Amino acid sequence: MNQAERLCPTHLLVNPFPVHDGELVVGGVGLRRLADRVGRTPFYACDRALLTQRVGQLRAALPEAVKLHYAMKANPMPALVAHMAGLVDGIDVASGGELKTALDVGADPQAISFAGPGKGCNELQQAVAAGVLINLESWRELGELAEISSRTGRPARCAVRVNPDFELKSSGMRMGGGAKQFGVDAEQVPELLSEIGRRGLLFEGFHLFAGSQNLKAEAIVEAQTKSFELVLRLAEAAPLPVRFVNLGGGFGIPYFPGEQALDLAPIGAALAGLAERAARELPQAELVIELGRYLVGEAGVYVTRVVDRKVSRGQTFLVCDGGLHHHLSASGNFGQVIRKNYPVVVGTRMASSETHTASVVGPLCTPLDLLADRMPLADAAPGDLVVVFQSGAYGFTASPQAFLGHPACLEVLV
Ligand SMILES: *Cc1c(COP(=O)(O)O)cnc(C)c1O
Repeated sequence: MNQAERLCPTHLLVNPFPVHDGELVVGGVGLRRLADRVGRTPFYACDRALLTQRVGQLRAALPEAVKLHYAMKANPMPALVAHMAGLVDGIDVASGGELKTALDVGADPQAISFAGPGKGCNELQQAVAAGVLINLESWRELGELAEISSRTGRPARCAVRVNPDFELKSSGMRMGGGAKQFGVDAEQVPELLSEIGRRGLLFEGFHLFAGSQNLKAEAIVEAQTKSFELVLRLAEAAPLPVRFVNLGGGFGIPYFPGEQALDLAPIGAALAGLAERAARELPQAELVIELGRYLVGEAGVYVTRVVDRKVSRGQTFLVCDGGLHHHLSASGNFGQVIRKNYPVVVGTRMASSETHTASVVGPLCTPLDLLADRMPLADAAPGDLVVVFQSGAYGFTASPQAFLGHPACLEVLV
């Protein structure tokens, strides 16, 4: 493999996947062979070794005292969750369905936590029976949990998800601060804590999650520090010693031209300081961060085959067998304000130095079905495989697969 070839011809800083004989290699398998092995296109493929490498790099940058959880809503493929469960310290689930997967793959219930607004009575019952930590997000959930605990004789393990009195700056998606459907407003938490004590639930800690997809280390450090300080204040009213302080995450990955990878060094340094303070001020507590996208996003690709190549009034369109229905976020319709191109390449023509401007579109009868808008790409023909990078998170399960009735997408871990 030629190192120069690994430089991505598009705007990705460095392509993490090797190139061999002009073909992208995922999980040690060349792209055409991988497509044959999967059986059909389109598909998502995640590289096991890159997942392992990512967790290793992160652990090296963070203090040992900080526990690392995988928030599985980013990619709930069972094989991937099983792999991650062996690498991280816990799994965060956000529905009864995710809880089932986490238990099925053998994650330790003691290290599973369950967050999300509107947890149903049946989901809470599942969680209590499984013995996982439930992040309480409302007074109603507290009432239901107390009822389930007294009916079943199994005291529920709970933490309080706090909606903080500050916001995470520079975040792709804000999920804390101001008026939110997530968590309990910080001002109401002391009263909730005394009710938790009165109803005999097993209080174990606090959970804060300020937001997602953040590439600014200073903003993450500020949110984690403020979160920790808020927890110190709230802990005074806790009915039992604090055992877990989940400071959230929000670590982003670069998707678009001009975006830089997150600098972990300042985050590691700040967390080391917080871990020292925690050891003094909350001696029984473990600090936890929970990450989804950062752990899995860059290890995955979406692969779709060129079905047709059309030229319309001078503009080239590569019409593929996959699109928006499998990869909503790459089409620009999953939370983006202004549509930008994900890093896209022709994975079967990586050696080609010449590029032409082309758009990659899917088979859906809507102009929204666009994977790349007028990008420089190697000249591709029907049969070539187009690859969308940064596709390991919020792809397969975050897309409207039934829209227009095309076959479902496949996903593999290689
Ligand atoms: C979505 C979510 C995450 C994961 O967010 P990423 O941006 O994928 O890291 C973590 N925690 C909670 C509570 C979430 O809702």
